[in-house]
Amino acid sequence: MTDASIYPVPAEWKTKAKVDAARYAQLHGRSLADPGGFWLEQARRLDWIKRPEIAGDWSFDEKDFHINWFADGKLNVAANCIDRHLATRGDQTAIIWEPDDPAEQPRRYTYAQLHKEVCRFANVLKAAGAKKGDRVTIYMPMIPEAAFALLACARIGAIHSVVFGGFSPDALAGRIQDCDSTIVVTADEGRRGGKKVPLKANVDQAAPLCPSLEKVVVVRATGGGVDMEPGRDAWYHDLAGMVADECPPEPMGAEDPLFILYTSGSTGKPKGVLHTSGGYLLWASLTHEMVFDYRPGQIYWCAADIGWVTGHSYIVYGPLANGATTLMYEGVPNWPSASRIWEVVDRHQVEILYTAPTALRALMKEGDDFVAKTSRKSLKLLGTVGEPINPEAWRWYHEVVGEGRCPIVDTWWQTETGGAMITPLPGAVDLKPGSATKPFFGIEPQLVDGEGHLLSGATEGNLVIARSWPGQMRTVWGDHARFFQTYFSTYPGKYFTGDGCRRDEDGYYWITGRVDDVINVSGHRMGTAEVESALVLHGKVAEAAVVGMPHDIKGQGIYAYVTLNANCEASEDLRSELKQWVRTEIGPIATPDAIQFAPGLPKTRSGKIMRRILRKIAEGDVSSLGDTSTLADPSVVDDLVANRVA
Ligand code: ATP
Ligand code: MG
Repeated sequence: MTDASIYPVPAEWKTKAKVDAARYAQLHGRSLADPGGFWLEQARRLDWIKRPEIAGDWSFDEKDFHINWFADGKLNVAANCIDRHLATRGDQTAIIWEPDDPAEQPRRYTYAQLHKEVCRFANVLKAAGAKKGDRVTIYMPMIPEAAFALLACARIGAIHSVVFGGFSPDALAGRIQDCDSTIVVTADEGRRGGKKVPLKANVDQAAPLCPSLEKVVVVRATGGGVDMEPGRDAWYHDLAGMVADECPPEPMGAEDPLFILYTSGSTGKPKGVLHTSGGYLLWASLTHEMVFDYRPGQIYWCAADIGWVTGHSYIVYGPLANGATTLMYEGVPNWPSASRIWEVVDRHQVEILYTAPTALRALMKEGDDFVAKTSRKSLKLLGTVGEPINPEAWRWYHEVVGEGRCPIVDTWWQTETGGAMITPLPGAVDLKPGSATKPFFGIEPQLVDGEGHLLSGATEGNLVIARSWPGQMRTVWGDHARFFQTYFSTYPGKYFTGDGCRRDEDGYYWITGRVDDVINVSGHRMGTAEVESALVLHGKVAEAAVVGMPHDIKGQGIYAYVTLNANCEASEDLRSELKQWVRTEIGPIATPDAIQFAPGLPKTRSGKIMRRILRKIAEGDVSSLGDTSTLADPSVVDDLVANRVA
């Protein structure tokens, strides 16, 4: 469902933004014409121990496959995020922490305090045996100590692997084993939406499955009772009392690993994505400044979890590298009420808010009153990431949340890309609801057909990136062959994103969904996003997920799972009405063959719909649903299987 409306850059953004349309065209042009010069110049935004003299050195060809950026440079990522700000903004707030329970007081850390906390944490990790190159698994709630732990690893050159605090002991064990972590950093318990999460108890269950694991460092967060195993487990505060709050940053090569992060697993077994130090930090920092038009002093909130790449790049590394004030929120969007996000915005006078379509759809479903009763006057810019945003949700975000005055940056990117890739710059690009718009500096997106032929002009195809960029992942941990195989073998010489995409007459990019999810009805290829957006546009529909199912005549038919808004009733009439609705919105070819009303959809822990499970159910093949370990609520699957529309 394409929304033809255009939201021009507001007049004051045209004049005041860091990058206007002309500057964007100039910078993007130069980044492609002279990548060496452009990127060495951009690299100056970081503090180097040894400044690099070479920028990109890479080849996507199988014979000579390698990816390096700034390889002769040396730096320390934590020093870039903290130490270099001390002289100019030591007393400025670096992190604002908003607790789960709104009745509690927020915490604030200045850059000077952050320096002490991170140094102490780094010394604790050293005391626990961590050395440069060791893997440290971080399994933490959204508390400031989680950010300290990441930065402490970066300071001493240990490689962190953050595992989202909502994962089960088995999922945690798998990720500890995959990278042979020697240390796990955790907390007694986490808190989310008023509920306790037994993090330490989960580690206790995972530990016996992990032969590499030597030490567990436990932060006291809730004060809940836990078992401590002598020799293996230690309280953070005990160790912290014995170490200094000074720790010299380890000089690191630009290509030394910074972290491993497992993908969300929406398409298959999670991949251990490895990012290195120099290129990643440059990408996180540059995109954070330009995409959000960030200015020192602004309160900036990325409402993601640190367990996802969005939390890495846009809660911790990007903002702190830029000397920003970054807000970290412990809880969930809809607790104690669906007003919470907007209340936090008001409480801290947030100017820039970055969240996901899944959260927006969930809040939209509860009605506008929860938004309307808050002020939100501080908001200047809104952002979204994670899935294609339905134009309906986009407009709600723009009109109801932002009262029409805040541009929305719809940022398309992946764990693999390190940071935003296709995204508006708010002062430069007119917006179209549902489009991630234009490529960021240095990014050369291309659309290819199934055989890899380059498609030009307004067209639709598979999204590939034709050249390397500094924030690109460098390998799949422990499986370099899988790295090449997954991303570079399908279309030789290009990075394959796995996403389908349309480019319109204005050169705007529209992500249509995962390529694996594309439906082929009587020879017409259709992205899932388009049909889903049409369904969500209906007043009674809160959320929709669309998959293909075998069809004797058409090859594939369309099977839609539909979640209705609060207090809307499912009925046969509504079913026919929705079929007719899609027919009118898109055309007869997109008419769903089956509609199943579903109270819940299977989603990853990061809120993405797992269509591969829905596809199996639609096909009636429920015996082999594949890896479901990253599902947020596995019980939804039983309901979906039981209520399958035959
Ligand atoms: P896995 O690779 O294990 O299946 P995943 O792809 O869900 O997991 P992420 O790296 O978190 O893991 O997600 C990246 C994907 O999210 C992109 O490939 C794209 O499909 C989708 N995505 C992210 N941002 C956007 C956006 N702004 N618009 C459309 N799609 C988006
Ligand atoms: Mg992916």
